[in-house]
Amino acid sequence: MRLVDSHCHVNADRFDTDVGEVLERARKAGVERVLVPGWNVRSVERALELAGEHPWLDASVGVHPHDAAKVDDAGWTGIAATARDDAVVAIGETGLDYDRVFSPIPEQLTNLRRNLALAHDTAKPAILHCRSAAGRRDGQDALLGELRAAGVGTASWAAAFGDRPAAVIHSFSGPVDYAQAVLDLGLAISFSGLVFRRGEEPSRDVVGFVPAARLLIETDSPFLAPPGAPRSRNEPEWVRVTAAWAADARGADPVTLGDGFVEAYDRTFPRARPRP
Ligand SMILES: [Zn+2]
Repeated sequence: MRLVDSHCHVNADRFDTDVGEVLERARKAGVERVLVPGWNVRSVERALELAGEHPWLDASVGVHPHDAAKVDDAGWTGIAATARDDAVVAIGETGLDYDRVFSPIPEQLTNLRRNLALAHDTAKPAILHCRSAAGRRDGQDALLGELRAAGVGTASWAAAFGDRPAAVIHSFSGPVDYAQAVLDLGLAISFSGLVFRRGEEPSRDVVGFVPAARLLIETDSPFLAPPGAPRSRNEPEWVRVTAAWAADARGADPVTLGDGFVEAYDRTFPRARPRP
């Protein structure tokens, strides 16, 4: 089965000593595409460095909701300046986190808005994190409101993106009607090991109806280890566990589904530089 990891932070310090071996294990497991998202100034620099050292990797640049209040205007300007780099295929990770609220919500909203504006201006899709506290959906509802207010789904975004998704809901979490609403806006949805956690049961229904062209999988390494992966540090090779879950939930042939993941990845994140 061909695999992609549409979201893994191998730019995190925890991979500094052995990132080459981690990527080699991913390759051997069938992972053909890897996207490394930055979340603040330092991790953006490291994502770009890794994409330079390992040309098969893709990078994305942006500011995570957890860091919204920590990245100042100069930091943002520096990050935004890297968005047109050939190694950069997306903007983020950004979004809203109404669960942990490591940055105050007004700062999260300001941060999300400027990341979305950068996605529109560069025609590179936004990668969106969205979480609410257990049993709640205020984060998801706020994100939908922000996407609509930014004009996602209107002619201005269609002019930039054509029929490509303008954003990816990464590490999907939320109710079924929220998934329907983001699909109605033309977005892609990516599933991680989060689907195995309690409270995330709707994901099994959602993965059943996401169109193959907009269906992605990821690990969100080093976080969200699926069953069988070391809880201390998830790695891209473990994306195969979530891929098998998706095949089962969709009643899909794994080989066909794997081809679909690679096609959806390449369609969502077109590359400026040739693939090695
Ligand atoms: Zn992430």
